[in-house]
Amino acid sequence: MRDETKCLHAGYQPKNSEPRVVPIVQSTTYVYDSTDDVAAVFDDPTKSLIYSRFANPTVMAIEDKIATLEGGVGAMCTSSGQAASLMAILNICSCGDSFISVSQIYGGTFNLFAVTLKKFGIECIFVDSFASDEEIQAAFKPNTKAVFGETIANPALTVFDIERFANIAHKNGVPLIVDNTFATPILCKPFAFGADIVVHSTSKYMDGHAVQVGGVIVDSGNFNWENGKFPDFTELDESYHGLSYTKSYGKMAYILKARMQLMRDFGAYPAANSAFLLNLGLETLAIRMKQYCENACTVAKYLQKSDKIEQVIYPWLENDKSNALAKKYLKGGSGVISFIIKGGRNTAVKFMDALELASNEVHVADIRTCVLHPASETHRQLTDEQLKAAGINGGMVRFSVGLEAVEDILADLEKALSAIE
Ligand SMILES: *Cc1c(COP(=O)(O)O)cnc(C)c1O
Repeated sequence: MRDETKCLHAGYQPKNSEPRVVPIVQSTTYVYDSTDDVAAVFDDPTKSLIYSRFANPTVMAIEDKIATLEGGVGAMCTSSGQAASLMAILNICSCGDSFISVSQIYGGTFNLFAVTLKKFGIECIFVDSFASDEEIQAAFKPNTKAVFGETIANPALTVFDIERFANIAHKNGVPLIVDNTFATPILCKPFAFGADIVVHSTSKYMDGHAVQVGGVIVDSGNFNWENGKFPDFTELDESYHGLSYTKSYGKMAYILKARMQLMRDFGAYPAANSAFLLNLGLETLAIRMKQYCENACTVAKYLQKSDKIEQVIYPWLENDKSNALAKKYLKGGSGVISFIIKGGRNTAVKFMDALELASNEVHVADIRTCVLHPASETHRQLTDEQLKAAGINGGMVRFSVGLEAVEDILADLEKALSAIE
């Protein structure tokens, strides 16, 4: 099946007389005939359903669809993108471990890695996305357990060199985790370039309609957890009477461990109803992504011509710093454009307030055009140095192109640009 078809059919194929649309199983729990039956499920929770804190049939149908789109062996949905990034790391790193992340990442993820995980005793070592192989290698420590990057960084819009980072991670015996939120599996399939784990904020393009927050972790099944660095995967888990994830589950070790340990204990699992809504977004993801790319390309070229704009950052523009990487990894530039208004922070705010069609909101990748000022909103908590490292300037505007007629989006931009003088 092609992606357009997978978006509609993967994860749920009804049998004779079953509902055409994936049903919402609105139940916290599942019934068994005997105590022995329930006991057997506790010994191996992958065999059947126990409790909707960590598995539910509606959510699992959507997990299968996303795993199929990414080309992975399994997926686990989470109640937010933040929960997905948190669990993707905690499934590998414990207190006393470190991991490497590029600094061009989403502000919320940056804070999670730099501040909150530090309190858990997990150190994040930041490297620049364009650092040399030698500089990246020098960042590794004996306790380093993973490498992390974003396919298209939010909001810096640098493209992550997945294959290069995968090679360096693998040389050091650790997996590469890629946040594929902005590209979606329609524009990039990170597993094809050597990534081992993919995470998403499904709140963005996957949902697409800004109706519910969610996340997902996808496992490629390709990483060898038996290289001596990951005893948590190979040794017996005392909470499951001596089960070893790699021995019992082979290629599914990572994603089942995430569900059986972390989701069981933390419980950041989406409700069945949220998964149902996410599925409605996924059904049109492939056709929507094509239109986002087309509209954003037109807008980026328009902005490039304005003398009020210092710089337009959009990976699909020929002169963009990431264009060569974009051509290698992506099928399109996606729908988000960052640009720097001449005159800095105050002029940027004035411009934003003059927009009418584009709404000022803390969101991105909505079906409607929306706009955000990172320096005073999402990245407010960062120091000036951290802002610079994350690729953000005071005059930077993050413009998320929606699916309105592109002529209407351009007219709105024209009006707001003339308002700044
Ligand atoms: C929004 C976002 C997140 C966080 O996801 P939430 O669903 O808001 O928790 C993580 N990564 C990227 C790239 C994002 O854009």
